[in-house]
Amino acid sequence: MTSTIQANDLTPFGGVEPDEAWAEEVRRLARERDAVLLAHNYQVPAIQDIADHTGDSLALSRIAAASDASTIVFCGVHFMAETAKILAPEKTVLIPDARAGCSLADSITGADLRAWKAEHPGAVVVSYVNTTAEVKAETDICCTSSNAVDVVASIPADRDVLFCPDQFLGAHVKRETGRENLYVWAGECHVHAGINGAELAERAAESPDADLFIHPECGCATSALYLAGEGTVDPGRVKILSTGDMVHSARATKASSVLVATEIGMLHQLRKAAPEIDFRAVNDRASCRYMKMITPAALLRCLRGGLDEVHVDLETAAKAKASVRRMIEIGQPGGGE
Ligand code: SF4
Repeated sequence: MTSTIQANDLTPFGGVEPDEAWAEEVRRLARERDAVLLAHNYQVPAIQDIADHTGDSLALSRIAAASDASTIVFCGVHFMAETAKILAPEKTVLIPDARAGCSLADSITGADLRAWKAEHPGAVVVSYVNTTAEVKAETDICCTSSNAVDVVASIPADRDVLFCPDQFLGAHVKRETGRENLYVWAGECHVHAGINGAELAERAAESPDADLFIHPECGCATSALYLAGEGTVDPGRVKILSTGDMVHSARATKASSVLVATEIGMLHQLRKAAPEIDFRAVNDRASCRYMKMITPAALLRCLRGGLDEVHVDLETAAKAKASVRRMIEIGQPGGGE
């Protein structure tokens, strides 16, 4: 195993089986480092199962801030570890592989956002939590998929709103608020954009009694609402949910089968939460290569070497924290991705 990262090489660290010896070693090293292990719902099952907490990005960042541990090991993608560092600047935050990026967060840079703001002077900027610290620092209010509508509705009607980076979530918010002066950045997540309406309609027709759990970043979120609107599927079956809310809904639903439209790592937590329900992916190729870079080998490397440490400069962190704090004050932030 090597600890040298090649900038353009996204080959994950490999060669380690997640067996009992690995689990023992991970637990021992975590104790030695006074580290709490956090895993996002899209991580591979072995990483989800070894973690102290598994959840969505926002819930994990809050756990990070409230934890007594001096070190946070964030098994997720880079912007999530940055958010933990913004909320807990005094702690050491490690990500097992700093190359684990996010196509959605990468679809807008701080410079892009500054240029967009210059075209719309006086506009209020609302950014989804899947953004870098630099973009959060240029943002007035962050939002999650659970409170995006409430956040936009809280802004005076005569103020223009710039919504970034996700075009599907932006379309959902525009439809719900009926707001004409909402401008949406044309970003997308390559994984969620690949889950399309045609596939959803086909799966829904094959399983007429199944609930549909849909993440609002999905290309199919609009189609799901359309299908419900025209009576093709029962509107009561369509649930637009963050990943954290999917777990709560899995425990509450009376359905015996559920079609899930999000990254396939989510199925592991859903099946653990409600083993009697048949959970199936709308698109079983919807796997995020960045999330899957956090391998058993990468976690060992992280705990042995204290790699990779996440830094956010203090000025950026203070500005970003203000936009995250406003998000928490408005509506129910629920969970992020
Ligand atoms: S699934 Fe999409 S939004 Fe989530 S981390 Fe991967 S690229 Fe980013």
